[in-house]
Amino acid sequence: MSFKHKKKFGQNFLTDQGEVLAKIMEVSGVEADDAILEIGPGEGALTELLLEASRKVTCIEIDTDLEKILRRKYESHPKFNLVMSDVLEVDFDEKIGEKVKVVANIPYYITSPIINKLIENRKYVDEIYIMVQKEVAERVCAKSGRERSTLTLAVEYFGEAEYLFTIPKEAFTPVPKVDSAFMSIKIRKDNPYIDKVSEDVFFKYVKAAFFNKRKNLANNMTSLGIAKDIAKSKLEEAGIAPTRRAETLSIDEFMDLIEVFEG
Ligand code: SAM
Repeated sequence: MSFKHKKKFGQNFLTDQGEVLAKIMEVSGVEADDAILEIGPGEGALTELLLEASRKVTCIEIDTDLEKILRRKYESHPKFNLVMSDVLEVDFDEKIGEKVKVVANIPYYITSPIINKLIENRKYVDEIYIMVQKEVAERVCAKSGRERSTLTLAVEYFGEAEYLFTIPKEAFTPVPKVDSAFMSIKIRKDNPYIDKVSEDVFFKYVKAAFFNKRKNLANNMTSLGIAKDIAKSKLEEAGIAPTRRAETLSIDEFMDLIEVFEG
């Protein structure tokens, strides 16, 4: 009996295998010495190539209906390690416990929580190669302009994101409503931003700046309980026009802003 795809688990499997899978393998540069983490292996289209190319592949899959299929295919493979769980519940200290490269076509309904979880566990993760909804990849990788959001800044604070290539929706079964994109996040090794501003403080200001996306910075900074004329003069002191919107600020300008507001 063929597998019935479950919408609730975001199950759109890669079936245009040859071309897209070859490209994933090429851009993620998996090496023989790498340990890989694959989130959501599905029926294992990508898993097979990852097993061939690396030292070890840990797969985290939530759907128990896929367990049998995956075990039948790969159980005898010495490099295959299957963790049946919700990825958001996995304790990386217990189940991962070593440096891994993430290569995955993740479930889109939890894209941000997965990215956040991987960043939180950055002591085990330094390179992330994931397939996501095209619009999300554009947002995360935006260097400037309207697509920038708190998620863009959250990723930028910890790593460098890159849009790698687009995958048309027809490459999946069932065919989803949206196109996809493959992107990478490389976690910063010597992180100048963490050294300068703590996570809590950084996110406090990013959230305030984006409080109302249509409003300018002088208005939004008042969400921190600061009077508007004070917010205005502090922004000017940081070399940032108070009429600008948060989406136009680079992460370095955020650093300048925080330095003045916290000073
Ligand atoms: N990698 C496969 C492919 O490319 O054909 C499947 C990708 S499909 C978009 C997402 C996969 O993630 C499915 O296998 C789904 O069951 C699994 N999944 C969904 N929610 C999950 C969760 N919370 N934790 C772990 N896996 C999950």
